[in-house]
Amino acid sequence: MPEGDAVRRTARRLDRALSGQVLTRTDFRVPQHATADLSGGTVVETVSRGKHLLTRIESEQRWTLHTHLKMEGSWRVHAPGRSWRGPSHDARVVLETERAVAVGFRLGVVELLPRDREDDVVGHLGPDLLGPDWDEAEALRRLLAEPDRPVFEALRDQTLLAGIGTVYAAEVGFVMGVAPQTPVGKVPDLPRLVRRVRQMLEQDWSRSRQLWVYRQRLCRRCGTTVRVDLFGPPGMERTAYWCPACQPSR
Ligand SMILES: [Zn+2]
Repeated sequence: MPEGDAVRRTARRLDRALSGQVLTRTDFRVPQHATADLSGGTVVETVSRGKHLLTRIESEQRWTLHTHLKMEGSWRVHAPGRSWRGPSHDARVVLETERAVAVGFRLGVVELLPRDREDDVVGHLGPDLLGPDWDEAEALRRLLAEPDRPVFEALRDQTLLAGIGTVYAAEVGFVMGVAPQTPVGKVPDLPRLVRRVRQMLEQDWSRSRQLWVYRQRLCRRCGTTVRVDLFGPPGMERTAYWCPACQPSR
């Protein structure tokens, strides 16, 4: 599952490729929008909210194309006339302008909605760690509203704060020396942890460095065997990687 930083990179790529341009062709390859046609409309912008992508398009009406990458989705931008970097049968959306062809492959969500209904799909999200309206106090308030929840699970709950997936939940736990099962109310300096993970997301940490514990067999600091535990409600468990030596239980 892509993390907030990967989703933000995708939003930037789409924004650079499409914004301000007129759509010459659109193709929505999902049953509920198979007949939709936004050609002639102008792409205003693409923004990310947590892990959601919102592409705003103005035609005779103000639309938002809401997409979500989920587990294996991606958006690729191609020059017109060039072959796609992905199989055609995996394409769910095609947005074409004179300069670019953006194709969304294997997207988890493809939903076209009136702009004023954006809140229906992203209004439930907690403050966006990478958003222009980031609100640390509100994120902390939401995190501490259920102080007994394991910190790993709370950090991944997009309704508390948006943008953290399993990679960053594991890595920030390591960096801060906090075991994943620690109740969020017992994390020694929660504001510092939240600031740290935000900084890591901003720096694209997971791309620019070797990870400490996520998907590692041995802790990269001390060599202890990395533990792998499941957290989360039944059916939605996620894997936590952590070092029992560097992240003592409290
Ligand atoms: Zn260690």
